[in-house]
Amino acid sequence: MSSCAPATGPACTPAKAKARTQLAADAFPPSATAARSRLAAVRPADYARSRNHLNGAVTGLSPYLTHGLLDLAETVAYLRARHRLPLTHKLVQELGWRAYFQHSWRQRGEAIFHDLHPGPLPQAAYDRTLPADLRRGATGVPVIDQAVRTLYATGYLHNHARMWLASYTVHVRKVHWRAGADWMYAHLLDGDLASNHLSWQWVAGTGSAKPYLFNAENVARYAPPEWHSAGTVIDTSYAALDALAHSPQRHGAEPGAHAAVEEPALFTAPPDADGSPPDAKAVAGRSVWLVHPWSLADPPADALPLAVLDAHWHARWPWSARRWAFVVARMRAITPLLWMAPAAEITAALRAAAQVRGWYNPHLSDPAWAALRLPLPPSPFAEPARACRSFSAYWTHVLKRTPQADLPQGVLFDD
Ligand SMILES: Cc1cc2nc3c(=O)[nH]c(=O)nc-3n(C[C@H](O)[C@H](O)[C@H](O)COP(=O)(O)OP(=O)(O)OC[C@H]3O[C@@H](n4cnc5c(N)ncnc54)[C@H](O)[C@@H]3O)c2cc1C
Repeated sequence: MSSCAPATGPACTPAKAKARTQLAADAFPPSATAARSRLAAVRPADYARSRNHLNGAVTGLSPYLTHGLLDLAETVAYLRARHRLPLTHKLVQELGWRAYFQHSWRQRGEAIFHDLHPGPLPQAAYDRTLPADLRRGATGVPVIDQAVRTLYATGYLHNHARMWLASYTVHVRKVHWRAGADWMYAHLLDGDLASNHLSWQWVAGTGSAKPYLFNAENVARYAPPEWHSAGTVIDTSYAALDALAHSPQRHGAEPGAHAAVEEPALFTAPPDADGSPPDAKAVAGRSVWLVHPWSLADPPADALPLAVLDAHWHARWPWSARRWAFVVARMRAITPLLWMAPAAEITAALRAAAQVRGWYNPHLSDPAWAALRLPLPPSPFAEPARACRSFSAYWTHVLKRTPQADLPQGVLFDD
């Protein structure tokens, strides 16, 4: 998560940077083969050296991890075995952030959607809606407008770009982190309520000791030229930014007219394909494997795969057409059986099955899912029994309790 990057990353030449920061819209095919290829292509040494640069050797694993095409424990085991990585390696630690946010969500539940503790200003100092210029990528601050365009065009943003966008939104525009988090979540292909909302809180200072701030010099070091933002509101010292974060003073868009982009539409159900209502007869007496948006790996051969979409959950958390296409295409590749309905109706129909197997995920938050008693996938790290209030407390526990020398033998699949 840290923004204190080594100053030794690759030079941001415009051509190289374009290749990485303007990912093709189809950069993440929704298939198990694509997920495995991404994993096989990871270069941990380059990652550790360059990950803070927008054109650095980041992995692009997040859409596959979020949607369960890659299992976190298997991913960590594979990377550690193949590259002989200790737990202290930067890449393993970053995967640890993902596990930590999941840990926090399990421990704190719905509380993660509210300020975990007071931030630099009282809640009333922040607006509850995003300004139209920000939504349309027309703030006149190039780093912000580029980030918004990239988010809309690809559904993916580099971690640094997410931090910049969140910090500007909260501390310069004085928008409450929750409004920004909900908006970004909806457009991300890898949107994960724990990683996303808790990262926004980390930036806002309601989930961390201090607000995350950045200036134009920081952008110039890590981003390609078209992102540089000299002469804008962020072209100032950290002391001035800290004073701004602690003052109710807000800034608007930069003066002058700025090119705008249209925000993609959001949908509470798949725009092109519709699931059918639950049908108990289709599963009667069968051993069912539950396929859901956070569990899109290949199902076991001995089960009837059933894909499900919880209509109430999706009404609360809309997605972009790109994300729907990713999830539904993968579901359709696994099974012709796709039900979309409230969780209670799906679980009622599933009572006709002989057995229901699958993996639990905290996004299955409707209490009706609990009746299925699905287990959580195993964690790659020794999980603390009690809530850790900071990543460092969590990671200290992990480093102490997860066997360092326990490098798994062999690889999990051919690559
Ligand atoms: C404001 C904000 C919002 C975010 N929203 C999400 C989200 O909705 N879903 C999501 O998966 N991640 C989120 N992240 C975390 C991180 O930005 C992404 O996981 C990462 O950029 C995904 O790209 P990658 O796979 O190329 O990452 P890499 O840098 O290659 O990292 C490898 C993997 O490590 C994990 N990881 C790396 N950094 C973090 C981090 N800071 N927090 C948690 N896990 C991390 C991810 O699983 C990632 O796939 C957010 C971060 C911020 C600052």
